[in-house]
Amino acid sequence: MIRQPSDVPRGRALAEAAARVIPGGVNSATRYIGEPYAFASASGAYLTDLDGNDYLDYHAAFGAILLGHNVESVNRAIRDAVGGLDLSGLGVTELEVALAERICSIIPSAESMIATVSGSEATAQAIRLARAATGRRKIIKFQGGFHGWHDPVARNVISTPELAYGLDPLSAGILPEALEATLIAEFNDLGSVKALLGEHDGEVAGIILEPIPHNVGALLPTDEFVQGLRELCTATGTVLIFDEVITGFRHALGGYQQLCGVTPDLTTFGKGMANGYPVGGLAGRRDLMEHFNGRGGDVLLAGTFNGNPLGCVAALATLDHLAEHPDFYTRTRDFGDQLRAGLTRVVGDLGLPAHAAGFGGVFNLYFTPERPTGYRELLDNDHQAYVDFHRAMINRGVLMLPLSLKRNHVSGAHTQADIDQTLEAAESALTELAKS
Ligand code: PMP
Repeated sequence: MIRQPSDVPRGRALAEAAARVIPGGVNSATRYIGEPYAFASASGAYLTDLDGNDYLDYHAAFGAILLGHNVESVNRAIRDAVGGLDLSGLGVTELEVALAERICSIIPSAESMIATVSGSEATAQAIRLARAATGRRKIIKFQGGFHGWHDPVARNVISTPELAYGLDPLSAGILPEALEATLIAEFNDLGSVKALLGEHDGEVAGIILEPIPHNVGALLPTDEFVQGLRELCTATGTVLIFDEVITGFRHALGGYQQLCGVTPDLTTFGKGMANGYPVGGLAGRRDLMEHFNGRGGDVLLAGTFNGNPLGCVAALATLDHLAEHPDFYTRTRDFGDQLRAGLTRVVGDLGLPAHAAGFGGVFNLYFTPERPTGYRELLDNDHQAYVDFHRAMINRGVLMLPLSLKRNHVSGAHTQADIDQTLEAAESALTELAKS
């Protein structure tokens, strides 16, 4: 079925109403990229819009949907919790302890944990903690890495034309001092990290990275790179922070650190951790985390909704589901492999300069002359070609991220029939593009 954008009259009307009372009509800038999306319900691998159209969902709320939409065990846990303790603001709940115990038992780097509400809060706390623990000012992040909306990390995310403001730094209103203390290295280039550590000897508090930078699709880290970062951090007393907001729980229950065998000092979580409900977390070495100790530590830990009961039950139910369904990982990887292989075949047959990439259930199609292994090749990505592909897929009922350098997600709810349908849609969409 080929749809036209005009098939969403109610979505258009709502988008117009939204623009009158919400700046730009959306509550997060990258939710409006050229189309008036307005979803009304979700189930399994599908989203349904206000006009009753179904979409096979690989956007997955930027990856916050891990198991699929409206998983019954998660919903049940939430329903059971409603009507119990809503929020107290004093002391601790059994749920918070259960969640921290669970994270410490499954994540290699976790000796203790704090629960936040979002990924940005977790990375902001991680950076402040690294500064407090080392008494140093600067941090290193990588070109293309995204760690949330707060000041120290709001620079050198690869600027592509579709980014909301096309700005680098990503926002006006940031003190230049906050950005000057953020040094930018290149992913998979240990030499660039060594050079910065040498130039700023004794000044770097922490290195933060997405171990697989899914915010630019899926550049895969080399073993030498992650191992080398660990060694450099240990040798220089620099705090190594893995931002596993996307990779955590998605690629392995123990996060990407379980797969690569490199243990960071701190790890941040969010997104899929509670399958669509707002929870984030920061875990790590006990001696570091003790800085948050309100009874003697020196780093402020505050947050009215931190560790709230609904977030904790959703996270625990999600982690239970993953523990009870270890085939989640083999299935999503197999489906991801099928999508990459199928896309590779189609673009090869059509002679399109494009490369299917990804890891596990995460996949993307780069429209680049060469397969990207680092940030530089990504600069050649043909943004418009991806946007056209995305549009042609939506018209065939398949929803992917509208951002050309991001990624798409297979969830626990996708079936073999969905993957086959996606590849058929992709073949038809790419054939149409190749002709235009
Ligand atoms: N880290 C990474 C790797 C992310 O992808 C994101 C969100 N895209 C964040 C941190 C910030 O998380 P949140 O949007 O929940 O604040």
